[in-house]
Amino acid sequence: MFKVLALGGDGIGPEVVASGLKLLDAVCAAEGIALSVEEDLLHGQAWELYGTFCREETVAAARAADAVLVGAVGGPQWDNIRVPGGAEMQDGLMRLRKELDSYAGLRPARAWPVLGHLTPYRPEVLAGADVMVLREMSGGAFFTDQRGIEQRDGRRVGFDLSLYGEDEIARILHAGFQLARRRRGRLCSAEKSNVMETYRLWRNVAGEVAAQYPDVAFEHMLADNCAYQLVRRPAEFDVIVADNLFGDILSDITGAIAGSLGMLPSACLHGLGGDAERPAAIYEPVHGTAPDIAGQGIANPVGTLLSVAMLFDYSLGRPDLCRRVEGAVAQVLEAGLRTPDIGGSATSAQVTDAVIAATRA
Ligand code: NAD
Ligand code: MN
Repeated sequence: MFKVLALGGDGIGPEVVASGLKLLDAVCAAEGIALSVEEDLLHGQAWELYGTFCREETVAAARAADAVLVGAVGGPQWDNIRVPGGAEMQDGLMRLRKELDSYAGLRPARAWPVLGHLTPYRPEVLAGADVMVLREMSGGAFFTDQRGIEQRDGRRVGFDLSLYGEDEIARILHAGFQLARRRRGRLCSAEKSNVMETYRLWRNVAGEVAAQYPDVAFEHMLADNCAYQLVRRPAEFDVIVADNLFGDILSDITGAIAGSLGMLPSACLHGLGGDAERPAAIYEPVHGTAPDIAGQGIANPVGTLLSVAMLFDYSLGRPDLCRRVEGAVAQVLEAGLRTPDIGGSATSAQVTDAVIAATRA
C-alpha cells in the first residue's frame, strides 16, 4: 500500500491538490498500484482551526506516509503572526521540510514549444531549454535561529544569520552530481564566494565533492552572473545547485522558460540515494497561493500534475509513469486546452480531466 498525505494548504493550494489527487488516483487505479490517501490542513487553514501552522498529528502522518503532496501555503493575513520556536514553527511547509529533512529541492523547468509565444524568448534562444535547479531546502538564512528585529543604537536592525555546515553543503552537492549523472552530465554551483564567507566554504566543499565525480562537467559560477546567464542562454544549463536563498530565486527565474510559474513542479527529497529508511518526499508546485485567482477554478494545475509525475519517478520508482504523465500534459497543451495564465480559457478541472484522459490514450 502506497500511502500519501495530501495537504492542500491555502489559496489555490487545495484546488491544485484536488487535481493532483485525481490524476494520482486514476493512474494508480489503471496500473493496479494500491493507494491510500489521507488529507489534512496546513498553515493558514490549520491556524484558523487549531491555532498552529502544523499540528503534531500532521507531522506524525507525514512521517508515516510514503509521500506528501502539498499545494501552497501563506497569505498576508498570517505573515505577521509569530509563535514560539524557530523559523520552522512560523510556516507549516517549512516545518514539514525540516521534520522530514527533505533538504534536496528538485525544480525542473523546460521549454514547451507551444507556449514559446508566452515567454520573453526568441524561439532559437528557448529551443531545447531543460534546466533543473537543485535548491538546498533545510538550511541557510531561511532556517537560522539567529534572526530577529531588535533595537540597537537607537534604531531597529533586522538580521538572519546564514550558516551552513560543511556536511550540509556536501550532501546537497552529492545530490547535484547524482542528478547530473541521471541527466546530461553537467553541474553548475551558484554562490557568492567573492564577498561572503558562507559561500567561500560552499565553493571549497563543492570543489572537494567534485573530485569524486570526474565524469560530470562541473563549474563554479557567481550567483548574480548565473542569474544573468540563465536568463540569456537558458538552453546551456543542465543542473544548477544553490543554497536556499539563491535556489529560490534561480528556480523562479526558470518560470519564464516554462511560460508560467504555474507550470513548474518540484520534489523535496532526503537525497537521491535508494535508502529504504528514507523519510517521505514532499511534492509540490513551485508557485504560491495566488490569492488573486483563488476560488475561481482557473488555477493552472500543470505544476501539481507534473509534481505527481515526479512522485512516480522518485517515490514509486516508476519513471515510465512519470514520462506518461509528462507526455499527457504536452499533448493537452498542444491541443490548445490551457488555463488563462498560459493564454487559454479552460478551467483547472477541464485541463486535469484532459490530462487524465491522455494518460489512458
Ligand atoms: P504566487 O506564486 O502565489 O503568485 C504569483 C503570480 O503567479 C500571481 O499573479 C498568480 O496569480 C500567478 N500564479 C501562481 N500560480 C499560478 C497557477 N497555478 N495558475 C495560474 N496563475 C498562477 O506568488 P506571490 O503572489 O508572491 O505569493 C502569494 C502567497 O503565496 C504569499 O503568501 C507567499 O508567501 C505564498 N507562497 C507560498 C509558496 C509555497 O507554499 N511553496 C511559494 C511562494 C509563495
Ligand atoms: Mn519561490
